[in-house]
Amino acid sequence: MTHKIRTVDLRSDTVTQPTPAMREAMLEAALGDDVFGDDPSVNALQDKLATMLGFEAALFVPTGTQSNLCAILAHCQRGDEYIVGQFAHCYRWEGGGAAVFGSVQPQPLNHQLDGTLALEDIEAAIKPDDPHFAKTRLLALENTLGGKLLPLTYLQQASALATRHGLGRHLDGARLFNAAVVQAQQQLIDLQSFQERVVQEARCIAQCFDSVSVCLSKGLGAPVGSVLCGSADLIGKARRIRKMAGGGMRQAGVLAAAGSFALDHHLARLADDHLLAVRLADGLADLPGVLVESPQSNMVFVDLQGTAKARASDLLPYLAANGVLATGLYRLRFVTHLDVDEDGVDHAVAVLRKFFVA
Ligand SMILES: *Cc1c(COP(=O)(O)O)cnc(C)c1O
Repeated sequence: MTHKIRTVDLRSDTVTQPTPAMREAMLEAALGDDVFGDDPSVNALQDKLATMLGFEAALFVPTGTQSNLCAILAHCQRGDEYIVGQFAHCYRWEGGGAAVFGSVQPQPLNHQLDGTLALEDIEAAIKPDDPHFAKTRLLALENTLGGKLLPLTYLQQASALATRHGLGRHLDGARLFNAAVVQAQQQLIDLQSFQERVVQEARCIAQCFDSVSVCLSKGLGAPVGSVLCGSADLIGKARRIRKMAGGGMRQAGVLAAAGSFALDHHLARLADDHLLAVRLADGLADLPGVLVESPQSNMVFVDLQGTAKARASDLLPYLAANGVLATGLYRLRFVTHLDVDEDGVDHAVAVLRKFFVA
C-alpha cells in the first residue's frame, strides 16, 4: 500500500501553479507578435503596470534577471558602475550578468540590519570623475529585500541622494507588491478599497525610482514573467537590450494575460501569505537553538545555534522526506504563497518540531 505524504513546498513563491481562472484568462488571450509590438495582451499588461506605478512605459520580459539586466544596461555604459547591496539579487544572484554582458561593474555595499544601505556608505562609494575610476552611474535598491520592507522615508532619502549626485535610480521590486501590502496595512485611513491602497503604496515606492522591475512569477502567482517600468526613452533602450538577450518572445500574450490577471486579482491576497509566515514563525518560536527572525512579509528566515546547528546538514533531507521543502543556502528559508494554506504551514511546523524536539 502506498501512503501519500502531503508536500508543502516552501522553497519559493515561484512554485505556484496558475489557478483555473488564470488559465482561463490565458486561454482567451488575444495574441500578436510582440517583437513587432502588436501583441494586444502584452501591450495591455505593459500599459496596466506602467499606469499603476506612474511610469510612461513598460516592457514585458521573461524573467526578473533579464529585467534587471535590461535596466542596468539601459542606465549604464561600458566602464560605468552601479552601487548595490551585497545581498541584492542583481549583484549576488544573477551570475554577474551586468559585468559579463555589459562591462558594467558592481560596487557592492554591506547592508544595515534593516536591509538598507547606509546613506553615508552610498555617498562615500560615489567615485569622483577621475580616469582612475569607473563612472558611478546608478544606485540599485531592492524592496522587499530578503522579505524585509525598506522604509519609505529611507527610499525617499536615498533617491534624493542619488539625484543630487546625478545617478540613475533602479528598484528591483520583484516583490514590490508584498512591500506595498505591508505599507497599506499600516495606513489608518480606510476610505478606499484595500486593493486601491495597495496600488497607491506601490506607486509611492516606485516613484522614488527611474526604473522598477516587478516579478509576476513570484507571490503574484503567474507562471512566468516580469515587467520593467520606466520612461519611454529608458524602456526604448531596454527593448533593444531585451532583443539582444534573446527575450523577444513573439506571441507572449498567453503569458502576459496571466500577469494581467494576477495584477487584477492577486494583489490584496498577498496579506494572507504574510499571515501564514507569522503562523509559521510563531510555531517555531520556542524551539531551543532555533532563532526565528520575525517575518515582515512572506519569508521566514531561521538561524540555528548549538546542538541544533550541529544537526543542520540532516535537516533539509529530513524535511523533504516528510513532505516539507525549504532552502538553506545562507540561512534556512521558508516562503509562503498562493498554494500554501494553514494546514500546510501546520504540517511544516509539526515536522520541524519533531526534528528539533526528538
Ligand atoms: C526572483 C528574483 C529576481 C529574478 O527573477 P527570475 O525571474 O528568477 O530571474 C530578481 N530579483 C529578486 C529580488 C528576486 O527575488
